[in-house]
Amino acid sequence: MTQLLELQDVVKHFPVKATGRVVHAVNGVSLSMRPGETLGIVGESGCGKSTLGRLALRLIEPDRGEVRFGGENLLALSGRALRARRREMQIVFQDPYASLDPRQSVADILAEPLKIHGLGNGKARRERVAKLLQQVGLPEDAARRYPHEFSGGQRQRIGIARAIALEPKLIVADEPVSALDVSIQSQILNLLVDLKRALGLSYIFISHDLAVVEYISDRVAVMYLGHIVETGTAADLYAAPAHPYTQALISAIPDPDPDRPRQRVVLGGDVPNPEQPPTGCPFHPRCPKAQPICSVEMPPAKNVGTEERPHLVRCHMY
Ligand code: SF4
Repeated sequence: MTQLLELQDVVKHFPVKATGRVVHAVNGVSLSMRPGETLGIVGESGCGKSTLGRLALRLIEPDRGEVRFGGENLLALSGRALRARRREMQIVFQDPYASLDPRQSVADILAEPLKIHGLGNGKARRERVAKLLQQVGLPEDAARRYPHEFSGGQRQRIGIARAIALEPKLIVADEPVSALDVSIQSQILNLLVDLKRALGLSYIFISHDLAVVEYISDRVAVMYLGHIVETGTAADLYAAPAHPYTQALISAIPDPDPDRPRQRVVLGGDVPNPEQPPTGCPFHPRCPKAQPICSVEMPPAKNVGTEERPHLVRCHMY
């Protein structure tokens, strides 16, 4: 089966004027996802996961590497061909308020992508807006109102309606529930799950929250300092995390059952400065299992799963 999205050895560094150094945001990431899949990307803030999401959509250009969408080299496209592909790939942002123009009515916000792509006339667009509002659980009269008249959860529903307006295949959801109250988070997650089923969507779901990622993802990639250090099905990765970083993250998820035995791994130190990443395995300064080789050599990816159900980990212990 053709993969929906493939990234091959993608690199993105950002120069920092003040220091004359570069931020190593994404360092040779390779991954792929099938149509209909939800791929969770998880890691601490500053690990490069949002940059990776934008590289996947070609919202920013990589310094190196390949991005293929539906088998086509996305980086070789321009003009009309790129615009046509862009229709199929959308993004939902963390802060729905900042991403919605406060001067536009909801009807205008939702009709804008249709106008940009020259889809439908005035009547057809009004009908599409009404349908989108219904699909995301907002009342029809929301069309006449403005973003400030809505709650955070409702605003995120508007952001999601805008993302599905062009009937995309892939949505990158970048921390879509982090700014919301916990009680609202599950409503938005359930909406995303329902829309995925109804519309045959695929998601890249980016979050620092491991519990949220486990709930929504089919497969999960764990990122640390611009590297993917572990990937596997959500079931395998959460049941038996292989990388010491993943083990530490998972051990810190609050467990609703206080009687269940659990060993919390507390990580020492902070995430290193991405302008000066450590040599060898980027996790070695904080790793409780580090060996001398870890500060010298970057470990290759090893499959600790099966051929049919790969579980890849980059750690010298394997
Ligand atoms: Fe820890 Fe070494 Fe494995 Fe890196 S390679 S995670 S430092 S044991």
